[in-house]
Amino acid sequence: MFPFSTGMTFLTGLGLGVLGVLWILYERRDFRAASGRRPSAHHCVRCDAVYGAERASGPCACPRCGHLNPALRF
Ligand SMILES: [Zn+2]
Repeated sequence: MFPFSTGMTFLTGLGLGVLGVLWILYERRDFRAASGRRPSAHHCVRCDAVYGAERASGPCACPRCGHLNPALRF
């Protein structure tokens, strides 16, 4: 095995801590987006229309053909 020095252990821990904080921040952002605070974008698989909906948390009907489409995820 490779012996880790104190500085190398500190830098590795610091890097993992930064990644952990970023992970928590992005998970919280995704949770807020899923709660319906932001408008959602939809793509109709039947007529190929792209449309937006205000605060739609689930499938939203296409304004052209009425087909229910889930929100796009980015
Ligand atoms: Zn459609």
